[in-house]
Amino acid sequence: MPLHSRHAAVLPDWLALYYGRPVELTHGEGRHVWDADGNRYLDFFGGILTTMTAHALPEVTKAVSEQAGRIIHSSTLYLNRPMIELAERVAALSGIPDARVFFTTSGTEANDTALLLATTYRRSNQILAMRNSYHGRSFSTVSVTGNRGWSPTSLSPLQTYYVHGAVRTRGPFADLGDTAFTAAAVADLEDVLGQARGGVAALIAEPIQGVGGFTSPPDGLYGAFREVLDRHGVLWISDEVQTGWGRTGEHFWGWQAHAQNGPPDILTFAKGIGNGMSVGGVVARAEVMNCLDSNSISTFGGSPVTMAAGLANLTYLLEHDLQGNARRVGGLLLERLRAIAAHVPAVREVRGRGLMAGLELTRPGTDQADPDAAAAVLEAARAGGLLIGKGGGHNTSVLRIAPPLSLTVAEAEEGAEILEQALRTIQ
Ligand code: PLP
Repeated sequence: MPLHSRHAAVLPDWLALYYGRPVELTHGEGRHVWDADGNRYLDFFGGILTTMTAHALPEVTKAVSEQAGRIIHSSTLYLNRPMIELAERVAALSGIPDARVFFTTSGTEANDTALLLATTYRRSNQILAMRNSYHGRSFSTVSVTGNRGWSPTSLSPLQTYYVHGAVRTRGPFADLGDTAFTAAAVADLEDVLGQARGGVAALIAEPIQGVGGFTSPPDGLYGAFREVLDRHGVLWISDEVQTGWGRTGEHFWGWQAHAQNGPPDILTFAKGIGNGMSVGGVVARAEVMNCLDSNSISTFGGSPVTMAAGLANLTYLLEHDLQGNARRVGGLLLERLRAIAAHVPAVREVRGRGLMAGLELTRPGTDQADPDAAAAVLEAARAGGLLIGKGGGHNTSVLRIAPPLSLTVAEAEEGAEILEQALRTIQ
């Protein structure tokens, strides 16, 4: 009997497991993983966009084992060389002038820190967030998560106002072209800011919503927002937990598609940088980062082993131009998915950028989301040897594809074929 069947009873009921019979992974290599029953899968979700370069990448494994042999833990009471080097690399890559970097152990904790910085810096607990967003599962990050699929009973420690603009396929501006859509969203932002009393600390936004189903606003939308935010003294936090490190192909960071008025004030990252090791962090210009006046630590943030993994992973990513690979292979994959979708009425839209592709499923001929169809496609794809993801909360009808950035053209083709067969099962 596979291990998961024996242990699943002690896990929380709300744990999101994709399959009726959960997959228990034992090992991985490249873009493939194996389960406890010996089945091999092409991993089209890279963990959850966490295995950024490849499974069992020798460079990362070597860096981790060598560092573990030297010192595993130092805590942030002390410095360690991999942490300093990774901070220098991330600061230089961030695009934020006079950048300071603080490492955490997850995306949730990175966003928590960003919210702490912004609310302290602006002396306000009012936050703007996008509708349909996801920023983590802690008390404060749930409080700025527009997707109410999470913890709807939580009482927020922050006063959050939600803004339109991140989703193109529904909402009051859905039918508008890019320019009119952006103008309407900017007007909505101005309206919301007008209603907020006593100043707002920050806007937090994902350049492309991840859990929200890989929805992108028109390019330049957050840049247009920035102009309004600047007038009101509101900081811009770009949550790059899913969109960082070249995943979108065209840009290294998602915010760069919205760069006309400069970089964000605060950038948060996690997921892919550690290639599966727990690395997250916050980048902010010195003035904002240093607004906290008490000493602070993160017991496990900046830990030498995870930093060594991040450093080796980032070096590999840059030296092998995986951003360029995401653009090329991702472009081909999106083209192929669009061709497949043209023959599947249940696919309402194929969207995405680089190696971040979403297929939104609706009941054919309607706008009604079809989470059952998405669940069925996931099961069929698994049976065919392919792991894919889906959106969360109210977006479980969106299939999500985000393989490691080293995906080859042949693997993209193989995965697309399995997915095509899986989509046939819901026709
Ligand atoms: N922000 C975004 C955009 C995410 O997609 C996620 C996780 O999916 C988080 C934050 C939270 O990250 P973590 O699960 O590492 O806490």
